[in-house]
Amino acid sequence: MIDILIIGSGGAGLSAALKAKEENASVLVVSKTHTTHSQTCQAQGGINAVLETTENDSIENYEKDTYKASHKLANKKSLKYFCENSKQTINWLDSIGVPFSRDENNNIAQRKFGGTKAKRTCYSSDYTGHKILHTLYDQCIKNSIDFKNEHLLLKLLTKNNTVTSALFLDIKTGEIVQIDAKTVILATGGYGGIYHNFTTNSYATTGDGIAVAFKAGAKLSNMEFIQFHPTSLLNKNILISESARGEGGYLIDSKGKRFIDELKPRDEVARAIYKKYEEGDKVYLDLTHLGKEKIEEVIPQERRLVLDFLKIKMEEEVIPITPSAHYSMGGILTDEYAQTNIENLFACGECAQSGIHGANRLGGNSLLEIVTFGRLAAKNAAKKAKEVKCEEKNENNLETEKKRVAKILKKEKNEDFYKSKNIIGELLFNKVGLFREKNTLEEALKYLEEEKNKIKSMGIEDKSKEYNKNLVEYLEFENILLLCQIVTNCAYKREESRGAHFRTDFIKEDKKFDKISICKLENSDIITTFEEIK
Ligand SMILES: Cc1cc2nc3c(=O)[nH]c(=O)nc-3n(C[C@H](O)[C@H](O)[C@H](O)COP(=O)(O)OP(=O)(O)OC[C@H]3O[C@@H](n4cnc5c(N)ncnc54)[C@H](O)[C@@H]3O)c2cc1C
Repeated sequence: MIDILIIGSGGAGLSAALKAKEENASVLVVSKTHTTHSQTCQAQGGINAVLETTENDSIENYEKDTYKASHKLANKKSLKYFCENSKQTINWLDSIGVPFSRDENNNIAQRKFGGTKAKRTCYSSDYTGHKILHTLYDQCIKNSIDFKNEHLLLKLLTKNNTVTSALFLDIKTGEIVQIDAKTVILATGGYGGIYHNFTTNSYATTGDGIAVAFKAGAKLSNMEFIQFHPTSLLNKNILISESARGEGGYLIDSKGKRFIDELKPRDEVARAIYKKYEEGDKVYLDLTHLGKEKIEEVIPQERRLVLDFLKIKMEEEVIPITPSAHYSMGGILTDEYAQTNIENLFACGECAQSGIHGANRLGGNSLLEIVTFGRLAAKNAAKKAKEVKCEEKNENNLETEKKRVAKILKKEKNEDFYKSKNIIGELLFNKVGLFREKNTLEEALKYLEEEKNKIKSMGIEDKSKEYNKNLVEYLEFENILLLCQIVTNCAYKREESRGAHFRTDFIKEDKKFDKISICKLENSDIITTFEEIK
């Protein structure tokens, strides 16, 4: 039996895999996509760290900025670990070959991102996530780490609240396979994709791991906090990284007037832009004053994206932009050891609520989180694996899961789940989006309940066994629907405004909600409560 099963091969999963190897644990990485197709590859702007303590910056300042952005919902213990280790994390990435951009003295260059007092964001031009992921993958190959790609996680098996195995659909063959492990690390990414067609996230970012963990009894936390990125290309959902504003870009309305400090936290900037649209205005990102040479040097990918998708040369014309759902602050609740409430089950990266971002994430903090907590999860999982005695297989559920999937394959298609996915994406953006209120949330909850009832008649057209994308997307849709209900439920229960969660009927932050939200499954019901931060 392997020591550590890692599910997900983004930055979090690969960082965990390398650390597991360092700890001499046996490890297998399983993922529904090919390794280099994970969301991490899309990250552009950079990764934060305090590299030198100067009069302008210190670890304490970093902690303060992140805590402020979290609106009191970060876990101070985890945050301290995160910030204190930031330099070491960057140095580790540098040592394994991440090609960070350098300054004139050959030191790792840093740029300024929103919500911070200092230049703290290290970068690789504007391909930071791409470079990090590919370097991690190269190292995994070098270290002979085993991978199973195109395997979709279906279920986690537990015995006495301890995880023992995971069930997957082998997408290539259509078989259901069970993998037993002493410990499991979930690194399956966030749930921004539930805002289908209104998100910068890839189609694969459907929050599966979070939904599966929830069904296995894991506590979810802060699911109402969705970050809307201020600048995605209008009608395209392609992200223009914060580095464009970090490098001096302006936001202007259709009269050419600036209306907000571009480097305020993302929630404030996104709401200001959305309001302009509500008033019938438009918003543009103006980079023309930077000139082509500077643009090519610091944000070449952004230039190419704007040229490819809008046929606009950003050194000559302003760019129409709008906010889009971008990052999910909530996820599987973990403690300071990256451990969930299920024994031997760890979670890291965007699928986890590890106590860093609270109500609002600072740009550049996610890439640091996936590497820091990926490595921490593996360190603790390797330690735990040494203590696991029971190596007996848990075989109760394999046959049941096989039957469940076979039944789905046989279902008639009376309703089209692709249509529902589009409607739900729009519903979420409009009713559980940048601004929420009791009525819109109730409408969304009612609609989602109706969709849940309709799922019985949502079949799939393609009945083939091998490479059945239609089946995969149906299984993802079940997760999407569940997560939509959870997010809306949490947003409904948090009767205040805080960070990315803005209730027009409760516009102030309320002290009584200085707590994290917790979601649990009890007798098939989604139960939301609020807990003090430990
Ligand atoms: C356009 C864009 C730009 C960004 N830029 C930045 C930035 O500059 N700086 C920053 O800090 N953050 C940035 N972010 C956020 C950051 O990229 C993500 O938070 C981070 O990459 C998440 O990494 P992860 O390893 O947790 O998940 P991912 O990279 O999303 O990987 C998840 C993995 O889990 C697998 N998986 C999912 N479901 C299943 C399943 N059911 N079964 C098996 N495997 C599964 C996937 O196949 C994938 O391998 C950006 C995000 C986007 C969308």
